[in-house]
Amino acid sequence: MGIRGQLTLLVPGIVALALAFGTVAEVRRERQEALEDFQLQNEKVLQTIGVTVAVQVAQNDMGGLDTLVAHLSDSMKSRDLQELAVLDDTGRILAHSNPERFNTLATDAFSQSAIQSDGPVVVRDVHHYLQAVPAISGIRWGTVTARYSVDRINAQFERTRYRLMGTSLLIFLGLAAILFFGLDRLVVKPVLTLQSAVRRMGEGNLSTRVPPLRGSELGELTDTINRMAAALQHERENLEKAVTERTKELQEANSRLERLAVTDGLTGVFNHRRLQEQLQAELIRSERHKRPMGVLMVDVDFFKKVNDAMGHPAGDELLRRLAEVLSQDLRATDMIARYGGEEFAVILPETTKSEAMQVAERMRQAVESRINTAETAWPTKITVSIGVATFPEDGKSSEQVLTAADQAMYVAKRAGRNRVIGARGAVS
Ligand code: GH3
Ligand code: MG
Ligand code: MG
Repeated sequence: MGIRGQLTLLVPGIVALALAFGTVAEVRRERQEALEDFQLQNEKVLQTIGVTVAVQVAQNDMGGLDTLVAHLSDSMKSRDLQELAVLDDTGRILAHSNPERFNTLATDAFSQSAIQSDGPVVVRDVHHYLQAVPAISGIRWGTVTARYSVDRINAQFERTRYRLMGTSLLIFLGLAAILFFGLDRLVVKPVLTLQSAVRRMGEGNLSTRVPPLRGSELGELTDTINRMAAALQHERENLEKAVTERTKELQEANSRLERLAVTDGLTGVFNHRRLQEQLQAELIRSERHKRPMGVLMVDVDFFKKVNDAMGHPAGDELLRRLAEVLSQDLRATDMIARYGGEEFAVILPETTKSEAMQVAERMRQAVESRINTAETAWPTKITVSIGVATFPEDGKSSEQVLTAADQAMYVAKRAGRNRVIGARGAVS
């Protein structure tokens, strides 16, 4: 059961129960008072009757006594009298509202205690009460006893009780209705609104805001939740921004690392490792497309002389310029890498032997003309020897093609350097 149902039943229920118990106790008290009042009035009446009775008994006027009792019992019926009797000091009935009982002995416990008592006697049960007073005129001449019904008084208070119980029920229903609708407006609807907004926030939708609510506590709670959501949203945005920035930095660092991993640090062209990977990939592609592929092995002639004459830094600088010159006329699909020391390798995809020979020759000429300028006085003329091999003509694997190019380059060296030599067939 929801909060609304619980409060709607609980609060009016407690109020109604308190009312019901209160009214029942009050009715019981009032009934008691009414009975005592009734009894007191009747006692006075019986005492007055007792004087007249005493006079008639004293005069031995039994006929007059009968008439008096019959008359009194008639007139007192409206006061709920059921029975009226006059007893002598032995308990014999001298007069009775029911004439059949005349001259019999009243043997019941009440009559016996009444004739023995000096004062009034009262015995009460649920429906009746019995009352007796001594009949005195100078001396005691007998006892007057009466039996009254209390049903009328009981019924009167029973009706009052029912009326008050009905009022309690009405109060319960009225309070329940007020609470039901009042709580609905003041508590339940705002709480449900809060609940659904907080649920959306819990699902990650931090831009959700609780609509402004009336009522100081709920309004304050709403403000607090909205402020919390705004702070969380702000934090999350900051976090996302920071994560995006870090990711970008990491990606940049990664690509820098990747470049570094495949680049030769001195010349900026690809390194030996990358050359091997690329050669392998291009070889597979050539094989698939049934297209030839050229490989050049370029070695600087008498490079050691540069180092010896000008020092290693000058040798390094020469290597950098050579890399530049050798890269200049290459196609986008070609690739140059530093093979090691002062050797470079070039991969020429989709290139025949004669085309590769032409590329190599252009390179040789470019080095000759562009490196040997008036600006730098090299200890010797800077030239290169180039060996040319092609796949599949000079080798079936990348190693075989490279070896064929290397061997052709050594042939060029032996033939006097500064020249291009093609491999002559496959290497076994
Ligand atoms: P050849 O014409 O027979 O090729 O003669 P060479 O002097 O070019 O060949 P050799 O193999 O005798 O010498 C190559 C030299 O290249 C030896 C080495 O010190 C130098 N060298 C290798 N790597 C580097 C480098 O990174 N920087 C510099 N400055 N020199 C290097
Ligand atoms: Mg060498
Ligand atoms: Mg050399």
